[in-house]
Amino acid sequence: MVSAMHTVTLIPGDGIGPEITAAAVKVIEASGAPIQWDRHLAGMAALEKFGTPLPEETLESFRRNKVALKAPLTTPVGGGYRSVNVTLRQEFDLFANVRPAMSFEGTRARFDDVNLVTVRENTEGLYAGIEHFIKAEGKTIAAESIALVTRTGCERIVDYAFRYARQTGRKKVAIVHKANILKCTSGLFLEIGREVAKRYPDIECEDRIVDACAMQMVMDPGQFDVIVTTNLFGDILSDLASGLVGGLGLTAGANIGREAAMFEAVHGSAPDIAGKGIANPTALIMAGVMMLEHLGEQATARRIEQAVRAVIKEGKHVTPDLKPGSTCTTQEMADAIVAELQS
Ligand code: ATP
Ligand code: MG
Repeated sequence: MVSAMHTVTLIPGDGIGPEITAAAVKVIEASGAPIQWDRHLAGMAALEKFGTPLPEETLESFRRNKVALKAPLTTPVGGGYRSVNVTLRQEFDLFANVRPAMSFEGTRARFDDVNLVTVRENTEGLYAGIEHFIKAEGKTIAAESIALVTRTGCERIVDYAFRYARQTGRKKVAIVHKANILKCTSGLFLEIGREVAKRYPDIECEDRIVDACAMQMVMDPGQFDVIVTTNLFGDILSDLASGLVGGLGLTAGANIGREAAMFEAVHGSAPDIAGKGIANPTALIMAGVMMLEHLGEQATARRIEQAVRAVIKEGKHVTPDLKPGSTCTTQEMADAIVAELQS
């Protein structure tokens, strides 16, 4: 069966963005995946050309294609620009942030048995943006921030986590909370989480208190499978999980909404190494792998992942962040992955 062509909005980004985008595109094209790119600018690159970091034509492309692969963007300082990432998340209601943390053989990470996914609620909680200063006699005397947790918000994120677990053959979901202290906001999340879990009798459900969970992740991450949690806890735990497997250069993430989905590298635009051709393309390639899974191209996704794993394991063609002193470039690492794909 020949699969239909998927058109994907491609945003090459800023800093190391264009370099790792070229690498990811090369690898995805070499895999034979039926992908057609619709390239558009965002971030600094867009500001320079269109005078705005998020041009209407980029938004329009994403609205049309509903799937985007996005390299890191720099949010221009000053000028009152809102972060493009935040705008995209709100505009398309990308409520689920999904971040796999998986060990790669051949890296110098602390653990070699990590294979967990954090599913973070991306739109509410303490990051709902409802905060203000309280002033008295012209002086700020306090600051207040409100965590907004809704039944709908809890339900859709926990349901997404369980559905994701089922679809990806995972066995267990941990609902992570702090309901012993935050009895209302975290309490509601936990209560709804347990209700939703009943609809998935085939998936084991447990709940953990966030602080204990952080300790357990650091001591024995192999026990975790899928973690679902509210915005702030998910932000912290997903970075913690990236650290367990060797950091920024390797981890990809997805922002998923009812209609649209955006796939990205977890790291930033790394201006310190931009233009040097030494950025590790793995995270964006793995974002491409997640994108292919989302598009139903599971077999191609597995082939690319295996090729990336083989190249990292062999350790001959890996960028200096993975092997200090290495002179391998971004393009050379991509070429090695392509060669592995074709072998
Ligand atoms: P931004 O403001 O866009 O987030 P940043 O300076 O915070 O940029 P990050 O991308 O978050 O940079 O990276 C932090 C550190 O990790 C930097 O030293 C960077 O060089 C390194 N780094 C990030 N991504 C990669 C990568 N793909 N390959 C190699 N090193 C990377
Ligand atoms: Mg950063």
